[in-house]
Amino acid sequence: MRMNTLADIARSLPEYDPQSLRVDLARDFIARLLPRVSTTERVALRSALGRVLAEDIVSPINVPAADNSAMDGYALRGAELNPGGDTRLKVAGTSLAGGAAAQDLPPLHCQRIMTGALMPPGLDTVVPQEFTRSEGEFIVIPAGCVRAGDNRRLAGEDLARGQVALAAGRIVRPADLGLIASLGQAEVAVRRRLRVAILSTGDELRSLGQPLEQGCVYDSNRYTLWGLLQRLGVEVIDLGVVKDDPDALRQAFSEAAASADAIISSGGVSVGEADHTKRIMAELGEVLFWKIAMRPGRPMAIGRIPSGGRDAILFGLPGNPVAVMVTFYAFVREALLAMAGAQAQALPMLCAQSVKPLRKKPGRTEYQRGIVSRAADGRWQVEITGNQGSGILSSMSQADGLVVLGHEQGDVAAGDPVDVLLFEGLNG
Ligand code: AMP
Ligand code: MG
Repeated sequence: MRMNTLADIARSLPEYDPQSLRVDLARDFIARLLPRVSTTERVALRSALGRVLAEDIVSPINVPAADNSAMDGYALRGAELNPGGDTRLKVAGTSLAGGAAAQDLPPLHCQRIMTGALMPPGLDTVVPQEFTRSEGEFIVIPAGCVRAGDNRRLAGEDLARGQVALAAGRIVRPADLGLIASLGQAEVAVRRRLRVAILSTGDELRSLGQPLEQGCVYDSNRYTLWGLLQRLGVEVIDLGVVKDDPDALRQAFSEAAASADAIISSGGVSVGEADHTKRIMAELGEVLFWKIAMRPGRPMAIGRIPSGGRDAILFGLPGNPVAVMVTFYAFVREALLAMAGAQAQALPMLCAQSVKPLRKKPGRTEYQRGIVSRAADGRWQVEITGNQGSGILSSMSQADGLVVLGHEQGDVAAGDPVDVLLFEGLNG
């Protein structure tokens, strides 16, 4: 089943350098080793929100099913409109939404019609009520207020029978729920949710509720990761804090591989780390330890741990809270979506003017936390949060997104445009 070993993939990438790996190359590498969830299940339409469509949704009907009116007004024959003056038509009857189609109308007749009502046969135009004047059984339409074909919805103009309404791999959104409902479909085939195990490693970590001894920190990464993963609609398996102890680590990673499609650990992959995490990862599976040409978040492990005839993909993230988030956005988020069977789902990238000059060394990709706002002229601008240290989680909390400064990019002058990877909506 396995196509390539990690070493094979590394060999196939021309500029692979694990000691200083370009961000784009690392992303490319990761994309090549991802298995996809293949199991599907049928769920009730509402439960499909946020799930990945397993099959194309093909429209079994025309939507709308028949020509109907887009306005409250009068249906008429466009050819009977008088271009040079008033048009006077006799009102034959009324068509209501949900009612039967009207009979054939004699010449120079019109039908009072409500929005959504079926167009009477042979009538192709609706003049809105407010443009007309009533004269007993007749209406008068002044010249030029409507053209032939106006205000009519055509059968199949939203979706034609046999048309792919939504493609497999789509993550179902609110509008999609409505679209699927408009086809009369009550159930949807979706892929099983991706299962992602998270764990934090480090002797200094304390869980919430425990006292904080000297030299210790509360484990925040599992909470951040939990939040990031909830947004992706995956099933999260929380394996807690694991001490820097070979047996505990071996057990935790084995359990993670057995229960999940992907494992995200944080901590213990840094250079010169005195702990056992790297050794245990390498013992259990095929793992590469990278230094990525990026900031923050240089060290990272990527691998697969076999379990029960398949592999769990391992993302060994650095421990620093900001580096966790940045590496998640840079490498993990889209990888998980691909594993879940979703079509590419990049976060939106906004081009904004940098308020301040930015120092940037060419030769690595930098992710600086930015606060986005509107400049006086209405354009988007971005200001870097004060302290860019990779332990400063409050700056991540303040930020609307990450200013992404590409590998080759040098210093940025104030006013220069920069790319901002948005992770939340903006208050313009
Ligand atoms: P490491 O990558 O294990 O060398 O950790 C780098 C830094 O991140 C250290 O200061 C750790 O204490 C901190 N750190 C590691 N894991 C966590 C965590 N789960 N929550 C908060 N801080 C962490
Ligand atoms: Mg550590």
